[in-house]
Order: sequence, then C-alpha cells, then structure tokens
Amino acid sequence: MEKKVIDSRVPHVLVLPYPARGHINPMLQFAKRLVSKGIKATLATTLFITNSVQSEDNSVAIESISDGYDTGGFTEAESVKAYLERFKTVGSKTLIDLIEKMDASGHPINCIVYDPFLPWALEVVKKLHLHGAAFFTQSCALLAIYYHVHKGKLNDPLAIMNVPIPGLPLLDVLDLPSFFSVPGSYPAYLEMVLNQFSNLETADWVLINTFDKLETEVVNWMEGIWPMKTIGPTLPSMFLDKLVKGENAYELNLWKPNDGTCMEWLDTRAIGSVVYVSFGSMASLGLEQMEEVAWGLKGSNSYFLWVVRDSEKEKVPSKFVEETREKGLLLNWSPQLEVLAHRAVGSFLTHCGWNSTLEGMSLGVPLVAVPQWTDQPTNAKYVEEVWGVGVRAKVNEKGIVSREEVELRIKEVMEGEKGEELKRNASKWRELAKEAVDEGGSSDKNIEEFVAAIRSKECA
Ligand code: UDP
Repeated sequence: MEKKVIDSRVPHVLVLPYPARGHINPMLQFAKRLVSKGIKATLATTLFITNSVQSEDNSVAIESISDGYDTGGFTEAESVKAYLERFKTVGSKTLIDLIEKMDASGHPINCIVYDPFLPWALEVVKKLHLHGAAFFTQSCALLAIYYHVHKGKLNDPLAIMNVPIPGLPLLDVLDLPSFFSVPGSYPAYLEMVLNQFSNLETADWVLINTFDKLETEVVNWMEGIWPMKTIGPTLPSMFLDKLVKGENAYELNLWKPNDGTCMEWLDTRAIGSVVYVSFGSMASLGLEQMEEVAWGLKGSNSYFLWVVRDSEKEKVPSKFVEETREKGLLLNWSPQLEVLAHRAVGSFLTHCGWNSTLEGMSLGVPLVAVPQWTDQPTNAKYVEEVWGVGVRAKVNEKGIVSREEVELRIKEVMEGEKGEELKRNASKWRELAKEAVDEGGSSDKNIEEFVAAIRSKECA
C-alpha cells in the first residue's frame, strides 16, 4: 500500500463557525484564503449540517462535531437557551474528540479559529494548549456596542443613545440592535452576544469580517484593546480580487439555489432594471409585512427577483404571483453573489444581515434597507447615513414598512438623481472593498501577518 506523505511543517487551522448560513459562509471563505496562503484548513460544523450540505469544494476539509441535536439541529431544541446549553456540553466534548482524531491522523491542529458565539471553544483551545483566534462575523460598530454593554459601561442599554461610543455616530432607538430597542426580546440570544466577550482577552487574535476603510474610527479604537485584524470582506475571490483561482461561490450549499432559472431570467432583462429582494436565511416576516412588501414591489413597477424561503411561501398573497408574472420571479434560494454581480440588477432590497450588506456594497449595488432584527437596524443606519449606499425604509406606527414606503424607496434608488448618487457611492465602496483584499491591501496584509504568526508560533 502506498504510504501517505504528511508535511507536518504546514500548520493546520480548524475553523469553527456557529452553525448558521451567515456564519459558515464567511468563515469557510476565510479558511479558503488560508489554504491559498499555504496553510492547511479544516471546517468543523455540526453533524446535522454536514449530513445536509453538498460541498463542491475540496480545498477545505469538512468535519463534524455535535450540537446534541444530530437529526434536526436547532429546530429540535425546545428553546434557544436549551440549544446553546446542550451545544456547549456536547460541542466541547466532540470538539476535543475531533482534535484527537486529527492528532492521530498525523495532521494535528495548531490553531482554532472559533466563532465567539461559541466562547466555550476558547476554553478547549486553552485546555489543549493550542492557539485561538476569535472570528467575528458582524461589524466592528456592533461589537463596540455589545462590548460597552458587556463591560457595564452602559448600565441601561438604551443609554447608548446618549453616551457616545468611540468611533460611532449617535444612535437613535431604532438604530440599536433589536435586543435593546425591543427590551426582553430573545434574552438567550442577548446573553449569547454579550458572552462573546467573556474570555476574549485570552484569545491570541481577534479577526473581524470588515475592512479598515469601512469602519476606520472604530477599528482604530478596537486595535487599542484587542490584538485585532480586519480580514474582510470574505467574498469568494472571483467576485473581488480574482487572486484565488476557481473560487467563485460559497460552495457549501445548505439549500440548492435555482441557479439556471434565475440567471437565465436575469439575462433577458435590461441593465440595472431589476430589484433583487432577500431577507436572508433566518428572518421570518409577519403576514402583514410580507403582504406590504409584495404589493410595494408590484407598485414600484420594477422587475424583481424575490427570494422567499419555503417556510415563508404561504405568506405571499395568493393573487400576487399571477398578477406580477410579467414583472417578477420568486425563488426559494438564489446564488446571491452571482445575482448581485449581474448587470441587470439595479438595487438590492435587503434585511441588512452583515453578509448581505457587505456583499451588496462589494458588488457595487445600491441598497434598500428593510431591517428586521438583531444587528440589522444598526447596519441599516450605516448603509444610509454613514456609507451613503442606500436608503432605509421607515416603519409606521405599527412597526410595519407599508407598501407605499416600499414602492417609494425602490423608486428612489432605481430612478433619478438620488439613485445616481447612490450608484456612485456604491461603486466607490466596491473599489475600496476590492483594494482591501487585493494583494498588499489592508485585509490581505492582515491575513498574511496572521499566517506568518501561526507559522512562527509553530516553529518556536
Ligand atoms: N444567501 C444566498 N442566497 C439567498 C439568500 C442569501 O446565498 O437566496 C446568502 C447570502 O449571500 C449571505 C447569507 O446567505 O452570504 C446570508 O447572510 P446574512 O448575514 O446576510 O443574513 P442571515 O441569513 O444571517 O440573516
């Protein structure tokens, strides 16, 4: 039998995201960047996910740990709290098992890049005398807010509005992460986002999926408190710098996108004539909100491509598809990056999840922000007021974005002087995002330094 040749001088990094699309995508992409720079990388995710996904990429190995819910994942748990607690217990144990398995295979792990939603992973790192890097999949601005609340510097989180946070603009109540603007909502998630900082000072590095010029002031402030590096945006290389050959999608499909249909449909549309609409992988809109979005889209008279996940489908008004057949296409999941990069797409009506926000800006598409919860309102504030790449739809007294507002905001972005200004700004941010990840750019240099540090620690 042929003997395997193992180069034990190549450091091996294990990447551990929280098991959600918005966390797996950027962390898998980062793993691929490490591989392109000569590091071996393995992505560990829950057995439920590894059993459900199709990976079309083999540069990063995929391995399983367990969250304690192997057949249904999060949906099997009786509450968020129960899920997170069981994940901590079963996850810590199965992570150690995986690391031991890697040791035995001759590819020992040297460093774990972990998601701070799972701070227990850093305890495993310390117990096994490995190196540990926290990887944040949200913006620096958001982390600054959570950090101040965690530190007790803002006893009443609503005080954020009156106490300026270094590097942040003044925030209105509707700009705050939803855990504060809607007190008492999702207490287990609130605890989780604040717990990210519980042991962070013991991490060797803090990596953040953003780039220097996007959040200059808050990045400068954060560099003073953590050994942090901005490494984003983590879009597949072909959409930005084109340095990593063949890297043209996220390549870990939790849902199979309707690629063919929607790309063909886009091919038949004029330049900049389509609104792409998506609320990401988790947000669930109320029935009334869904109806308002639907009729607002129709009223805008634009062509549209709307991602409605299967779980949301029944909320689409019954006559809507029939009445808009000439104008729009509904699909249950899209190849979002390809869609945003398509010349027919003129704007992106988004929930402002951090990945979608970065993707829209990196591909130069103006945004219509319709934030739903968690970090999305804060991202929407930046989109409109700080980066000038979009407009934010206002909610009415019932907390709903009306059909008239949807229609108005789409028209504002797709037509006229305002639309032109947003397009110019979006193009500027696309260039800056590309510059950050291009050879010698700020994020590229930070990744190089991270790789060099791992190598030198291993040789020390
Ligand atoms: N996405 C996709 N197809 C879709 C909708 C979303 O590939 O139809 C991807 C999108 O490109 C992004 C991720 O799913 O990378 C969603 O992450 P985000 O942070 O925007 O939102 P979340 O799903 O976490 O709310």
